Amino acid sequence: MTNNSEERLDRVRGGLYGLLVGDALGVPYEFHDASEIPAEDEIEMEPPREFRRAHAGVPVGTWSDDGAQALCLFDSLNCNGSLDFVDFAGQLIAWYEDGRMTPDGKVFDVGIQTRRALGTLKRSGIAANHAGPAGERDNGNGALMRCMPVVFAAKSTDHLIELAMRQGVVTHGHARSQLCCALYALIGAGILNGLVAKEAVSHAEDEFRRRFTNTQNEREAQLVLSARAEPPRGSGYVVDSLWSSIDCLLATTDYESCVRRAVMLGNDTDTTACIAGGLAGLLYGYRGIPLKWLEVLKGKDIVERVLRGAGASAMS
Ligand SMILES: [Mg+2]
Repeated sequence: MTNNSEERLDRVRGGLYGLLVGDALGVPYEFHDASEIPAEDEIEMEPPREFRRAHAGVPVGTWSDDGAQALCLFDSLNCNGSLDFVDFAGQLIAWYEDGRMTPDGKVFDVGIQTRRALGTLKRSGIAANHAGPAGERDNGNGALMRCMPVVFAAKSTDHLIELAMRQGVVTHGHARSQLCCALYALIGAGILNGLVAKEAVSHAEDEFRRRFTNTQNEREAQLVLSARAEPPRGSGYVVDSLWSSIDCLLATTDYESCVRRAVMLGNDTDTTACIAGGLAGLLYGYRGIPLKWLEVLKGKDIVERVLRGAGASAMS
């Protein structure tokens, strides 16, 4: 851990605002092929007038399911000191049904596995840690996109990996999704502890390999690691989503370029920019996020409330 608590606080704020701003930036560009995305310097919260916006009725600067669920996770971790499945699942249902942690109480985006899991939870009373669909085709990026707060809350590397994987199972039961969350959290923790991006990624890969070799997840862990060689597509598949975001982080040298690069991949733009933006926010700090985007971000009172709830635990 860095000894400089002010720097750590700036990184935690940066990580949280970074994922929320990335999500909000990506919302209007979602579902478009990369070829349809505007030029890099035209990617703003408000897209060019001629661009056909996704979620056209959603006000500029509004985060989507990614940001709301990350805030639910952060709030749940703050309140419980660790991960309480019942509380976290309750928060996710409150998001889906009542717009908890959304800037204006409206839910306009939900992933396939998450919708199924929350429906199952409501109907059947199944335990929250068994609610997530667990087939190989159920590996969307919905657990990865909200994972960042585990980096703020973890007390050790063991705790970090445990939290990253457990928060995922509520909506995504397959090991591949959980492993992507673990690798992402390891990268985030490396950055929070002061590593530069390239070092944080390679240290995380080494730790991840060590941890999952000779376990029941070895084959899946190998699959996740080897996908680094594939071209980033910005899709909703959790493995591609993870490596697309890491590619954006490693290929750029500031927050703004990182999240714009994520949007330029097209497809699941809000989520790629959210996942990449969380890491870039940790790396460059709150002060690295462009003021023009922070100014138009909606719901900052909610973010500040959740950050206050983290109290000393996020700053120690
Ligand atoms: Mg979304």
